[in-house]
Amino acid sequence: MVMRTRFAPSPTGFLHVGGARTALFCHLQARHVGGTTVLRIEDTDRERSNQALVDAILDGLHWLGLDPDEGPLFQSDHTQRHTDMALKLLEEGKAYKCYCTKQELDDMRAAQQARKEKPRYDGRCRHRSEPPSDQPYVIRFKTPLEGEVVWPDMVQGTIHIANKELDDLILLRSDGSPTYNLAVVVDDHDMEITHVIRGEDHTSNTPRQIHLFQALGWDVPSYAHIPLLHGEDGSKLSKRHGAVSVLQFREEGFLASALNNYLVRMGWSHGEKEEFTMDEMVALFDVNNVGRSAAIFNTSKLLWLNGVHIRQSGPEQLRGELMWHLQRLGVDNPNPNFIDQIIPGMQERVKTMLEMAQMAMFYFKAPTEYAETAVAKHLHADILPAYAALLEKLHTVTADEWDNGGLERAFKVVMAETGAKMGKIGQPVRIAISGSDIAPGIYDILQLVGRHESLRRLEVLLSFFQQRVHGANG
Ligand code: GLU
Repeated sequence: MVMRTRFAPSPTGFLHVGGARTALFCHLQARHVGGTTVLRIEDTDRERSNQALVDAILDGLHWLGLDPDEGPLFQSDHTQRHTDMALKLLEEGKAYKCYCTKQELDDMRAAQQARKEKPRYDGRCRHRSEPPSDQPYVIRFKTPLEGEVVWPDMVQGTIHIANKELDDLILLRSDGSPTYNLAVVVDDHDMEITHVIRGEDHTSNTPRQIHLFQALGWDVPSYAHIPLLHGEDGSKLSKRHGAVSVLQFREEGFLASALNNYLVRMGWSHGEKEEFTMDEMVALFDVNNVGRSAAIFNTSKLLWLNGVHIRQSGPEQLRGELMWHLQRLGVDNPNPNFIDQIIPGMQERVKTMLEMAQMAMFYFKAPTEYAETAVAKHLHADILPAYAALLEKLHTVTADEWDNGGLERAFKVVMAETGAKMGKIGQPVRIAISGSDIAPGIYDILQLVGRHESLRRLEVLLSFFQQRVHGANG
């Protein structure tokens, strides 16, 4: 039997990190055994679903590298099939028409509450002897009155639910539309889903769904209900906790590999290991080893992990993401080869790809201003003559010599002549080229920016430096 898992989001909002974690677990579990993943969009709530939200989910999954093998399939395409199955249960006497009016249901609930009972449908229409023919009705499932539902949950352990805890759930509403539990069961069966991995908030639906599988004569899939994500304050993760949309994490400069790594560690571990590549996750992950306690989403740990992934990735793994950020910052069509050359100098210096893109901007646009702290710290009168001498010397370095060796020779000559140390003379150069003293290696940036543009920027700083020193001299 080939394992088939499904991720079944309702397109009522963006793809949030909780959904992304469910999708990741489905993906890893299937990949681990060479199975198949299915994406099913549960779009039966027409008012709240729309194409833009579906696209946002697809984009989020794509960015995370969690594209499904099959799908997206749309639940709303199968409404007739859902209806047919409800009618089949009705025909077989496993479901019945319920004519209770809203008033009747309200009175029932009030009476139950007065008796301090759990509000539930009491099943009175199961036995209605003379059904009123012209009144609207819903179709309800005949939940067994005795016994219990038991399933071996892959995360929660064996779960027992007494049937008397469950009332007769509605399969078709009075307008004929199928309900969530019916649609999910029919789709899971028709899509040949073997393993349902979903949030713990669905645990209470599972006994009802198992009853439906059995009543329809179908195999019941295996279930894993994974604990929900919580914020650091202990409450369920929500917008209040900052970025929760997967694509917002992207905008803030997180790598998909780091977010996946972080999400897999929310409730699952493999010894002391913290850092996982996708291949390692596929090899090691097993939903049976997911823990039962709520996972706390901690942004600072994710940030740390993001820095680790940035440092450990090759330029080819960071290129696409850096180009995406640069384009958002207004750099049109950055050249991929050039991108690969500038990445190594920045990997050790940033924690996010947004920071990297911001740092890299000077490669594409000359600084329009200089960082105040860097100016205050490094542009002192005593180094101005050496800086001017260096600039003069650099003008004599030809385009052919404009490499590590040629630049180093020029710097050395000027340092010997003026007595200035690299630490002092290097910083004005960094500021001239990048606008700040936080930048990759000096010879690297001079070469990557190129001889002509470097000399131009060095001249601009010289004027600025001279003015500053004259002003200081009064
Ligand atoms: N559509 C449901 C949701 O978004 C998930 C249903 C399921 O996984 O069974 O929460």
